[in-house]
Amino acid sequence: MPKNAESIKVVFRVRPLSSKERQNGCKIATIAHEKEGVIEIRDPTQSNNEGEAAKSFTFDAVFSEKSSQRHIYDVCAAPVVKSVLEGYNGTVFAYGQTGSGKTHTMEGVTSETLLRGIIPNAFLHIFDEIALNGSNDKYLVRASYFEIYNEEIIDLLAKSSQRLELHESDSGAVFVKDLTDVVVKSVSEIDNVLQRGKKNRSVGATLMNAESSRSHSIFSIVVECCSNDGLKERIRVGKLNLVDLAGSERQSKTGATGERLKEATKINLSLSALGNVISALVDGKSNHIPYRDSKLTRILQDSLGGNTKTVMCANAGPADYNYDESLSTLRYANRAKNI
Ligand code: ADP
Ligand code: MG
Repeated sequence: MPKNAESIKVVFRVRPLSSKERQNGCKIATIAHEKEGVIEIRDPTQSNNEGEAAKSFTFDAVFSEKSSQRHIYDVCAAPVVKSVLEGYNGTVFAYGQTGSGKTHTMEGVTSETLLRGIIPNAFLHIFDEIALNGSNDKYLVRASYFEIYNEEIIDLLAKSSQRLELHESDSGAVFVKDLTDVVVKSVSEIDNVLQRGKKNRSVGATLMNAESSRSHSIFSIVVECCSNDGLKERIRVGKLNLVDLAGSERQSKTGATGERLKEATKINLSLSALGNVISALVDGKSNHIPYRDSKLTRILQDSLGGNTKTVMCANAGPADYNYDESLSTLRYANRAKNI
């Protein structure tokens, strides 16, 4: 088995039809078969020839509209958070076209127990663990929140929206210089950090979704733990990256021109760089992992591969008009998985 195979998991989630899609009589093209771990997709233009029109893809787990936010957290993110608490790095990505459910998966509705997504569930998980061990061990939790927009790094927690630079330490570690780092002592404090950063996210309208996001947003939590068994002190540090990727749709479909088209090209560049890094890691045979090809992969270099855990949650809409984009998301996710 390739050396990174166990640490990279690819899962696929298909959201329900929206009420508008139901009203418009949209047909279903993409179905998640949870028990089998299979996504089935049918080409709506070839409905007469059912056998040939359908394709299936297998993943480590698949989620249909019936899957709860909590179930998705337990399967996808809880093992990553657990290993971060043990001192390893880990990353959870949400991938998919705009409107496919990435932000629902990562954030959901923070204030509603049943609807909260991976990020707020991770907050609870981390502080529950600290409450359990806090009498023996000392913890320090720090959060940062930034986005990569047009290959520029923007601190979502800073007062001014200054562009930040990547630096490399003598040991080769890559870091964002001058990035705000907030020490948090409770779920409500870290939740305030999330809300504060969200207000600063760049949002520009496209034809596909008025709230579409063309930036990658990265919420990072560093957990330091100092434990003492009476004989000696042990310090462990783990970093968790929760990444809501930019929409993966091809620019032609969004009607982008000029500046928007330039953005779209850069978005697709970093998404394909990420795909190349993950498939090189999964393959295990490549000596060269192309981390340097984008800001996103450079920043996450210490959290992808090696001893880290990575989960790629690909998202798709079920409707027939999403067929082309859903198929391209399936192909991207399929390439990232271990065969
Ligand atoms: P993205 O971030 O990929 O652009 P969103 O997460 O904003 O997509 O989802 C688009 C819309 O679909 C939102 O209104 C969201 O609440 C809804 N949605 C997405 N996934 C689900 C789901 N699993 N169940 C119910 N509603 C969902
Ligand atoms: Mg979103």
